[in-house]
Amino acid sequence: AVMVGKRVRSGNKWRRVVGLLRELEEACETTVGRLRQVVDAMAVEMHAGLASEGGSKLKMLLTFVDNLPTGCEKGTYYALDLGGTNFRVLRVQLGGENSSIVDQDVQRQRIPQHLMTGTSEDLFDFIALSLLQFIERKENGSEQSKQMRELGFTFSFPMKQTSVSSGILIKWTKGFAIENMVGQEVAGCLQQALARRGLNMRVTALVNDTVGTLALGHYYDADTVAAVIIGTGTNACYLERIDAIIKCQGHLTTSGGMVVNMEWGNFWSSHLPRTSYDIELDAGSPNPNDQGFEKMISGMYLGDFVRRVILKMSQETDVFGPISSKLLEPFTLSTPSVAAMHEDDSPELTEVERILKHDLEIQDVSLKVRKLVLKICDVVTRRAARLAAAGIVGILKKIGRDGSGGIAGGRRSDINIRRTVVAIEGSLYAEYAMFREYLHEALNEILGEDIAQHVVLRLTEDGPGIGAALLAASQSTLRVDSVQ
Ligand code: BGC
Ligand code: MG
Repeated sequence: AVMVGKRVRSGNKWRRVVGLLRELEEACETTVGRLRQVVDAMAVEMHAGLASEGGSKLKMLLTFVDNLPTGCEKGTYYALDLGGTNFRVLRVQLGGENSSIVDQDVQRQRIPQHLMTGTSEDLFDFIALSLLQFIERKENGSEQSKQMRELGFTFSFPMKQTSVSSGILIKWTKGFAIENMVGQEVAGCLQQALARRGLNMRVTALVNDTVGTLALGHYYDADTVAAVIIGTGTNACYLERIDAIIKCQGHLTTSGGMVVNMEWGNFWSSHLPRTSYDIELDAGSPNPNDQGFEKMISGMYLGDFVRRVILKMSQETDVFGPISSKLLEPFTLSTPSVAAMHEDDSPELTEVERILKHDLEIQDVSLKVRKLVLKICDVVTRRAARLAAAGIVGILKKIGRDGSGGIAGGRRSDINIRRTVVAIEGSLYAEYAMFREYLHEALNEILGEDIAQHVVLRLTEDGPGIGAALLAASQSTLRVDSVQ
């Protein structure tokens, strides 16, 4: 029973807190059995999403990317990467053989908060100006700058694409909310802003960040068949056979395949271990009933989940002292802070103490309290990492690389133990060692060591942006460098 208004102060308070912790642990339980159910559900939803438009919460979006970079791309290309906490402008010089990148320049900046919820004109003007200044700095008014340049644009939100260089925004995620943009042609918005700045450029590749990451992964290693992002948001894409994409009937590709953007952030299944905190977090979010899987996994939400657990415990007992206004305010605890607390290995947990005091203005931070918070971080992060692992195995299962056979009459065949590379990126995976460890551990548990040893997760860097430049190169219509 939930106690409202009355906080336990007596010696029983720790018993109550431990009870809440046990409840949390139970509700977040991810046994291998349960993860396997998530794997199966993911594979089933993938089939449904490929069968028809709206066939599943998994949108399985067509990207029209039917050839991945080979390592022979050549020339200088620009790219823009928009969609998370940071915005990037890039310039890449491709060597033309052996996957060589002769030179690359990446400029990162934070997206000002007000632009995420303002108008599309303001957002795209900001982007175009950044690009203009970047180009001016790079090219220094040289003759070359009169030439038409080709641009890769990474736009990390769900888009309904009609070609590799055009697409319509389906909805916003990750706290972006610009009303007049939904339903608009994304490349068109950018193209107009570029024109307003007098920039002679053409968007030749419009891609999701997962697709850029897959492109870069494949540029370096031809065994790369899928890509995953676990950062502010989460998603995956993979290379699918064109005849398996039923909803794209009649569309032929030279390669016989196409990259599919799963938009797995919106995956849902009754097998997911959902808690009351998830329900409250969802209800308080700008996009309720949307992106359920993402809200259990990605960096935008983990910190707030932990805050909600601490708040609940504070409302029912006084182990944390008085309830501060910071503790009541959504998103005051960031995921990097959760990572820092989780990875605090000092005997007195001094980093946990510092963050609790600083970020949440909690007054009672005895060692016992610090240990409790560390445990909460562990439970929440472990669940997130293990669910992401189940998602990855779901893809492997769909493409017959999970070792479960089913290719030749259910016979376990060699094809299933081919080396399989998954390119992976995002701050949670790249910068949170415990998250990474839990993810790898779960992959091994679900697949078994025998199969897991053939699956390589390859961490790439700036894949979304560099990959978009690579795709712009392979889509290039200028062909200035193709004379051999
Ligand atoms: C978006 C995806 C994106 C992912 C990772 C999600 O919120 O819907 O398109 O790939 O975040 O950035
Ligand atoms: Mg990003």
